[in-house]
Amino acid sequence: MKIDHSINRSTSEKLFQESQTYFPGGVNSPVRAFKSVGGTPLFIAKGNGAEIWDEDGNQFVDFCGSWGPLINGHNHPYIYQSVVDTLKNGASFGAPTRKESELAKFILDRIPFIDKLRFLSSGTEAVMSAIRLARGYTNKTKIVKFDGCYHGHVDALLVKAGSGLVTFGTSSSAGVPEAFANETIVLPLNDLDALKTCFENLSNEIACVIIEPIPANNGLLLQDLSFLTDLRELCTAYGILLIFDEVISGFRVAFGGAAEHYKITPDIVTYGKIMGGGLPVGAYGAKREIMSFVSPDGPVYQAGTLSGNPVAMAAGLAQLSLCAQENFYEELEKKTTTFVSDINDFANTHHLPVELVSIGSIFWFSFNGKKRIAAADQIDADMTSFNKLHHFLLNRGVYFGPSGYEVGFISSAHTSEQLAFSAEQIKEGLKAIYQ
Ligand SMILES: *Cc1c(COP(=O)(O)O)cnc(C)c1O
Repeated sequence: MKIDHSINRSTSEKLFQESQTYFPGGVNSPVRAFKSVGGTPLFIAKGNGAEIWDEDGNQFVDFCGSWGPLINGHNHPYIYQSVVDTLKNGASFGAPTRKESELAKFILDRIPFIDKLRFLSSGTEAVMSAIRLARGYTNKTKIVKFDGCYHGHVDALLVKAGSGLVTFGTSSSAGVPEAFANETIVLPLNDLDALKTCFENLSNEIACVIIEPIPANNGLLLQDLSFLTDLRELCTAYGILLIFDEVISGFRVAFGGAAEHYKITPDIVTYGKIMGGGLPVGAYGAKREIMSFVSPDGPVYQAGTLSGNPVAMAAGLAQLSLCAQENFYEELEKKTTTFVSDINDFANTHHLPVELVSIGSIFWFSFNGKKRIAAADQIDADMTSFNKLHHFLLNRGVYFGPSGYEVGFISSAHTSEQLAFSAEQIKEGLKAIYQ
């Protein structure tokens, strides 16, 4: 798709030139740099409801939602007010505040399989701490992850599959010692045989398995329910802890995340994104016995200067109060299904090799010509079609995360008009790509 020069992006371009002198790639998190779709990242000036405006005043319906946290849209008045009211009393104390207990109680009352939790400041921190806890609790060192799951930028998890049947990982980032990577075993998703072989050989050394039960950071790789239930049973049988990384799926597909959706109970769960209402928050939780290993009760150290920050807690509590309202998730899913089927019907009618895969209010453009893909190696590495569509949509007032591997999110703030408008633009975009 050609860049439409009639649209003014000069302020974003100027700001990006400047930011490149300050930050590697001009950004504070790599995917924001538009490397994968090409072109200049838009600098966002403001957001309201389901819409955002860039620094040149161009308006977009937003399906990135800050990469997942904004399940109630931008600047929701109730969340905004809670943040402002809390901030009036100061931003941080490094001492306990009642806000932390209020948010914890709200979550623990509704998620029966965790008795206690710990708040921290990001999803990465939550995962890192959960892994340490699993190792401390089991007194074992190796961990299992799945190819195609993302768990933040934790050293031990920036690891890709090596070669061989039961493979020890090799680091996927410079700066991660091979010695760390070797403690991580990488398995293919949705592959029960690979999991069994691994456990049969190494269960004495494996502390935990970590999985995104709804893998949504590298396409949307929905797992067979039987794979997830077998995973749960095998972990129990071999004395291996199961960690559900629900940083993206928690409070998104149901209040209790994928665990509630699939009715499968992990030993440790991690949250983030939605739980912070747009402010930086993470959490990990488990049964009382496991959590008793966490410092100062137990020997597993974990701390944070801004952990449980009252302003973030207030944003989280306001957000989750909205999510806990009756039919919240049903309505969100209904909206998403309407949007997705409209586009899929169009693609079918016109024989276009694209399919929107969805669960709850998460969806993904699968340009793979087949509906269900459950493992990372089935994704078509050629993202040309998505990249063309992305640029077409930027010219038409629809904003997606700038990578074909990323999912889109629908929020309670998206109106049926905004969704119908966006679906029209997407259909026109697809038509233009395949002409
Ligand atoms: C986003 C994400 C993380 C990392 O969270 P950050 O807040 O970006 O550190 C970890 N796990 C999953 C499943 C995520 O989606």
